[in-house]
Amino acid sequence: MRLTVIGTGYLGATHAACMAELGHEVLGVDVDPEKIAALSAGKVPFHEPGLPELIAKHTASGRLRFTTSYAEAGAFGEVHFVCVGTPQRRDSDAADLTYVDAAFAALAAHAAPDALLVGKSTVPVGTAGRLARTCDPEVAWNPEFLREGFAVEDTLRPDRLVFGVESARAETILRAVYAPVLAAGTPLVTADFPTAELVKTAANAFLATKISFINAMAEVCEAAGGDVRTLAEALGHDDRIGPKFLSAGVGFGGGCLPKDIRAFAHRADELGTPLSFLREVDAINMRRRDRVAQLARELCGGDVLGVRVAVLGAAFKPGSDDIRDSPALAVAARLRLEGADVTVHDPEAMDNARKAFPLLGYALTAEDALRGAGLVLHLTEWPQFRAIDPERAAMLVARPRIVDGRGVLDADRWTAAGWRFRALGRPAPE
Ligand code: NAD
Repeated sequence: MRLTVIGTGYLGATHAACMAELGHEVLGVDVDPEKIAALSAGKVPFHEPGLPELIAKHTASGRLRFTTSYAEAGAFGEVHFVCVGTPQRRDSDAADLTYVDAAFAALAAHAAPDALLVGKSTVPVGTAGRLARTCDPEVAWNPEFLREGFAVEDTLRPDRLVFGVESARAETILRAVYAPVLAAGTPLVTADFPTAELVKTAANAFLATKISFINAMAEVCEAAGGDVRTLAEALGHDDRIGPKFLSAGVGFGGGCLPKDIRAFAHRADELGTPLSFLREVDAINMRRRDRVAQLARELCGGDVLGVRVAVLGAAFKPGSDDIRDSPALAVAARLRLEGADVTVHDPEAMDNARKAFPLLGYALTAEDALRGAGLVLHLTEWPQFRAIDPERAAMLVARPRIVDGRGVLDADRWTAAGWRFRALGRPAPE
């Protein structure tokens, strides 16, 4: 089939490449000419494992092309997937739908009357219905659940597909697009528009709640002298709870969970069905950043003024160079404001971090960041950081003091190597 993918960021570039991999002819469309030039040359302007290979393969085969022209997209596509951003508005918690509205308006002007316009962006419930009433070509909603760092795998072998459709024709078209994925046994849930939109926001709200739940337990452990790692292990053995998303730490960030729970709470208020617990989920999450800064001050004898701080991590999570709402950079920037001399290292996110936080220092290797540091903060869970040898690291730093903001370092090993070691939700080692 001939598909277009509108918006070629993390979601759209992955979706376009994976649709080509499924055998379709794909045209990616973006308003950013630099992004389109890079992708046309087979280059991916962000870090996503497996994606460069797929983009290179299909730009070379001719099955995947990119353009900035909606006229070209309209003439080309039978099905148009809209993957543009829905960030938080500057003036409220609501989602900014400017880009989605602009993409649908442009498609409505250029697409063939019998084309199908399929939204994939995460939107407040009610958006699909509103767009369907204003667009001539038929609209469907097909929310996306991919995880950055596993985006290709999650697109080609998703846990489930959700089709929000208003006609059998739309369902038939989407079934044809995803035929190889469905043939592999992927569960399909077909729903009305509001339900399809809500599956996505509810899934993110649930995941954020699970993380904030264990982080709230970490707060209680800190006050009561318990150990949240042991607590989480014991909770996770219960099948009804499960061990995933139960790692206490500096909390979630990124371009999805924080803005999605805020937008969901905002939309729920509008609907008269408040989800006030989501505001607490958000607040617990933000308090963990404060707690890391507090532990940093405590380890430095009261304040971090003039302390050389090595921050290990800038991406909001490992496997990604995405720094949107990154807890690591939020803590790094805060300590810089408190007078610390902060040096950040991240295996993939250095360029993005440098652009967004030009006043922080940057080191090309973790060793360079550690050299001469009076305090180390471990804030993104890259496997490289977990593999650091505490004895060797102790020889590099000026003072062996570390906060493990991800709760994965072996406290006994670090303490035995001479480090003063603090983690979230756990008592300080004797
Ligand atoms: P992104 O910012 O990386 O990409 C958005 C792209 O859309 C940009 O390249 C931008 O230039 C382009 N764009 C903006 N306006 C446009 C227009 N009118 N026409 C064409 N292109 C336009 O964002 P993202 O992370 O890919 O997220 C996109 C959507 O997918 C959001 O709604 C997000 O919540 C959702 N989502 C993201 C993920 C993820 O892991 N990143 C997962 C699931 C769902």
